[in-house]
Amino acid sequence: MIKTKIFDEFTCLADKCEMTCCRGWSIRVEEADMEKWKASEETAYLCDKTAEGQMKLSHCKTCILLDENGLCEMVKRHGDEALSKTCKEFPRKVNKIYELTDEQEGKVLCEEYSLTGACPAVLQLIDKEEKNAKIVEIPALCEHELEFAMPVPMEYRIRNMLLYFLQETEYTLEEKLMLCFDFLHECLECEWETEVDDCIEVYQDCENEEEHVALYRDMQYKKEEAFYELCQTFFDVTEFYKEEQMYGAYLTALFDFVEKMDTSAYLEAWEQFKQDFTREDAFFTKVIVSEIFSDCISDDLEILIESFQSIVMEYIMTRVSLFLKEQLLQAQGMHVQHTEKIAYMSLYIRMIGHNVDGMAEYWEDNFDDPILEKEYLYLLLQ
Ligand code: SF4
Repeated sequence: MIKTKIFDEFTCLADKCEMTCCRGWSIRVEEADMEKWKASEETAYLCDKTAEGQMKLSHCKTCILLDENGLCEMVKRHGDEALSKTCKEFPRKVNKIYELTDEQEGKVLCEEYSLTGACPAVLQLIDKEEKNAKIVEIPALCEHELEFAMPVPMEYRIRNMLLYFLQETEYTLEEKLMLCFDFLHECLECEWETEVDDCIEVYQDCENEEEHVALYRDMQYKKEEAFYELCQTFFDVTEFYKEEQMYGAYLTALFDFVEKMDTSAYLEAWEQFKQDFTREDAFFTKVIVSEIFSDCISDDLEILIESFQSIVMEYIMTRVSLFLKEQLLQAQGMHVQHTEKIAYMSLYIRMIGHNVDGMAEYWEDNFDDPILEKEYLYLLLQ
């Protein structure tokens, strides 16, 4: 069993949570719980008749069981045990890795326990960790290292390499993310699993890593074009969400600001902000590691890459949002609070990380391919 470092420390903030998970998104409920609710007159009203498998929400997308103090009526009346599996488990996630056999499903090799950063209490715990602490101990990197152990499915070997780049190498966060993305593109080119294992070995070699990173450092891009593209992406990602009550409180002012913004006038401030923002690298590295550990596990490599791209976008959107907010507040003689990074990252994990299909569609519509080109991701990251 593998657990992220903070897994056992989690407790819900309950009525002190400003971003309750009972508001702002659809709440999917396990089939068994849904059937149980439907079968009783007392609970049938909890099922959304227009969206199969989802809980009924109020007109402002809030769970109808959430009381005015931010507490759950179900728990108040019937205790934790009455909750659906979805509500009981959030923000915990469990992945089971199955042994590779000729049959469909072998025995469970390992269970992995993690927490999603869609819950701000999880990000608060990560923020309290020491700068160099590892959020998860990386399991064996590739089949060759396991020797006599059972072979781990390919998607986990690939994911473990991403964790290795982020936790074990000494580059900047942007360079590490590019190293990950470069490696994923390389895997996509492989026809056979053995080629992916070779690829893993090549990328573990320090000299090769150094060579790849040197290439990004030499990549030419126009700063103004990059910042304009970033603002445009912010505009596209937030356009619909800002209409919803909970998201609007964080996004509307920034959206209006970007709409009227002359990007060239803010270019210098943006460059300075990015440099100062590297002081948050340790926090965001841990958050990204934690999200990759939970979510980059699809056996379809394209879907795994879309999940990775989404996690990188959560970080990119958080960074630019904090910059925009800082510009707005500075005009009033104020500054962004340290804790705002938690609110925005949590928000984007909900908006992007829980809508990977929607993001893939967005990339497909804009670039004819849901898998981004390396140069494009680099442009947004810079
Ligand atoms: S988001 Fe996290 S802290 Fe907030 S109510 Fe949900 S589980 Fe509790």
